[in-house]
Amino acid sequence: MTAKITDVRAYPLKTRTALVRVSTDAGVEGIGECSPMNVPIMCHFVETALRPLVLGQDPLDTERLWDAMYFGTHKLGTGGVQPSCIAGVDIALWDIKGKLLGQPLYRLLGGAVRTTFTMYKSIGGGGAMTPDAMLELVREAWDQGFKAFKIRMDWQYRQDVDPEKDLAMYRLCRDFLPAEIPLSFDANNGYTVPTAIRQGRKLEALGAAHFEEPVAPTNYEGIRQVADALDIPISAGEHEYTRWQFRDLILSARPDILQPDIVKCGGFTEALRIKALAETWDLPVMPHMTQPTIGNAASLHFCATIPLSSRPHEYTGPRADLDRIFTDPWEFQDGTMSIPDRPGLGLTLDERALESAREG
Ligand code: CA
Repeated sequence: MTAKITDVRAYPLKTRTALVRVSTDAGVEGIGECSPMNVPIMCHFVETALRPLVLGQDPLDTERLWDAMYFGTHKLGTGGVQPSCIAGVDIALWDIKGKLLGQPLYRLLGGAVRTTFTMYKSIGGGGAMTPDAMLELVREAWDQGFKAFKIRMDWQYRQDVDPEKDLAMYRLCRDFLPAEIPLSFDANNGYTVPTAIRQGRKLEALGAAHFEEPVAPTNYEGIRQVADALDIPISAGEHEYTRWQFRDLILSARPDILQPDIVKCGGFTEALRIKALAETWDLPVMPHMTQPTIGNAASLHFCATIPLSSRPHEYTGPRADLDRIFTDPWEFQDGTMSIPDRPGLGLTLDERALESAREG
């Protein structure tokens, strides 16, 4: 079986999505997406920096092409835009691989230990809200059928602004939800080490499922101090890209849970390398994921193959405006999502709907 890549295009959508399409001469096309850090920049990077490196190449050569993209552009930055754009192309290449071989991706990634996931509702913006406003959003998600939750403070790198309010917000939401429903807390890097430890003890007493990014993502020593001081699992990793950064995170910060984001950390090819690191250190993987369609599908295929990933999966919730660009959007039901048994990612673009969803 031979195929050649004939084109790589990236489209900004009105939904603040950087959609990647890779076409081949075998009549099969793959789709991917980049983290939407800055959609016009991401699309420009994919088309000008990555496209020339993969045109004419065999789409099945995912590792070789990943290396070509990474080492061919590493002077343009190895965190942020570059690995996230590689992710968009890499996910599309894996989608092609699945379609060419007629297999869902989790099978090509080594086989699923699970294909149905409890999705947790991830609700952000806590820093700018009252506890009552957050409770309202938790209540709405509960009515939508969610069976697991996380509230995020999003303090935008400001530290120790109002830990008392954060805690009051957590307590209010915890009191509303039945005791068996997991509720996690994400400080979004909003605390100093002593505040994080004090806050963590209180969250621990309230039964928080996990405590995410307590301190600055660059403060590996601080993450380690917090993780060492507390029993509640500390998670980190959404600000890390590639295996080399996860190596450093594991060795220096040693969080209890790793959170690679497949649309940020370089796509399937690099996520598999990070998975190997996680398994080497016996660390659970609980992906970071804010993209509810392609990114989410990719993340679930990846997660499906990891025995130590049984925690609920991050989900910002169903989005009709995104689902409509696919002929076969995935179904969120009773708080869970199952990977459909379709080749590749298992998502097909609806060309007419896509046309009206494109920016400009
Ligand atoms: Ca987070």
